[in-house]
Amino acid sequence: MSETESARPPIAIDGPAVSGKSSVGKQFAVRIGYRFLDTGLMYRAATWNAVQNGVDVNDSQAVAIAAERMEFSVADDEQGGNLITVNGEDVTDHLHSTQVDDSVSAVAAVGRVREIMVAEQRRLAGEGDIVMVGRDIGTVVIPDAPLKIYLTASARTRAIRRHRDFLAEGTDVELEDILSSMERRDLVDSSRADSPLRPADDARVIDTDSLTFNQVVDLLTELAKEVL
Ligand code: C5P
Repeated sequence: MSETESARPPIAIDGPAVSGKSSVGKQFAVRIGYRFLDTGLMYRAATWNAVQNGVDVNDSQAVAIAAERMEFSVADDEQGGNLITVNGEDVTDHLHSTQVDDSVSAVAAVGRVREIMVAEQRRLAGEGDIVMVGRDIGTVVIPDAPLKIYLTASARTRAIRRHRDFLAEGTDVELEDILSSMERRDLVDSSRADSPLRPADDARVIDTDSLTFNQVVDLLTELAKEVL
């Protein structure tokens, strides 16, 4: 950045599982020339690390200790997404396994894990020019962000979209299994005591049921123009 340019404020996008936050957020960030941070990957990395170390993900104390010992870093990849390393190893490709999907909400409910992740997220937000996606970005991580989006869609629409992605990549998973795993995750994420999933009071709630991917990106770009 040149000395005359100053950083623009961070933008928050939250929403339930498979609401399109990551794919939409990434494309939106490219459009407005921002970096992109998928904070879900950070909780997934803590989960992968706990599982690798044989930690019981329902033992919050053990999960907290594993997270404290974990050295991790987040970087940008060449497609505008993120790369996550844990103890020096690039673990990005392991983070969307069914095992991580099924355990991540328990790990993300542990207060100490959230403290560690939120500290790093705020540091990155402080650099500005970043779109951050997650569950508590507008409510907890950067509540002063000038633009907070809450992306949602009906559970069935979200499951059908994910099912289509799986089919496209040749993975055979039942639609009903996707739906129940997603709903279980949403329930834990929205009912936990620490930083539950919910829209910030001043978030722009966007229901994407009847919108295409490009329409959502266009809409966010218009909203960004109002505040940047
Ligand atoms: O966004 P994604 O589905 O990859 O997030 C995985 C999990 O990480 C969520 O189900 C939630 O438990 C947790 N998470 C969170 N806070 C965030 C981002 C993700 O608790 N800001």
